[in-house]
Amino acid sequence: MNPSSACRFCGKATPLVKAHIIPKGLYWGLDQTIVTDDIVNKGKIIKRRGDRHKTPVVVSTVQGEFQRRTRNGLWGRFICETCETRFNAWDSHAIEVLRNSKPQILVQAWKYENFEYAKLKLFFISLLWRAAVADEPFFENVALEARDLSRIKLLIKKSRPGSWTEYSVLLWRSDEIIAKAMLPPERVEYEGLSFILMYFPGYMSLIKVDHRPLPIRLKPYSLNESQSWLVGRRDYSTSGEWKRMLHTARKTLKK
Ligand SMILES: [Zn+2]
Repeated sequence: MNPSSACRFCGKATPLVKAHIIPKGLYWGLDQTIVTDDIVNKGKIIKRRGDRHKTPVVVSTVQGEFQRRTRNGLWGRFICETCETRFNAWDSHAIEVLRNSKPQILVQAWKYENFEYAKLKLFFISLLWRAAVADEPFFENVALEARDLSRIKLLIKKSRPGSWTEYSVLLWRSDEIIAKAMLPPERVEYEGLSFILMYFPGYMSLIKVDHRPLPIRLKPYSLNESQSWLVGRRDYSTSGEWKRMLHTARKTLKK
């Protein structure tokens, strides 16, 4: 049996379904057109020109990836239908919280209070797992150690979210239009610990893949059981990655 034709979750040789890695429901706001020839200043379009692109702008440095992925989102064949249903309730909850809820606006953050810790945490953990096992070029930087892959699988199987310091999830949000573009995930150092950085429209997430604990002072920013989660405000217009996104978007859209 070819291992690539086996479900990456249950291991059975069974037909694999076309599964979204980042749920389709999180691609909201992407009917807003972003055109690389628009004159953009501080993350806002000040003058529109050029062709309209009504599909999600997925910025990828992988050859051929941009054209292949944008219309249908980011998906792969790595899981069977039965196993994929495990993610449904978590995906729906994440879409509800991240897209439809109205968090309290603070000076430097948004305060999310209406969420179920277990469901939302399991969404992020399963997102990490999906990105790691999917063999999709866009997610090639998401590599996990064998012990993490089996630990995460166990958490998913038992629907156990783990504590706030295990695979901690830190989130930043931006309403700037450029935040609707997505760069491939990467492994980064933050506060001296290893994280996987993943973008999805309007958000940037860090998921801790380091076995050392998260400092306690960061607990309010880590998705936790207290029903209060601070999501940072991200200003792309002053960050280097904004320039990088725009540059790559220009290049890929011109192809
Ligand atoms: Zn399966």
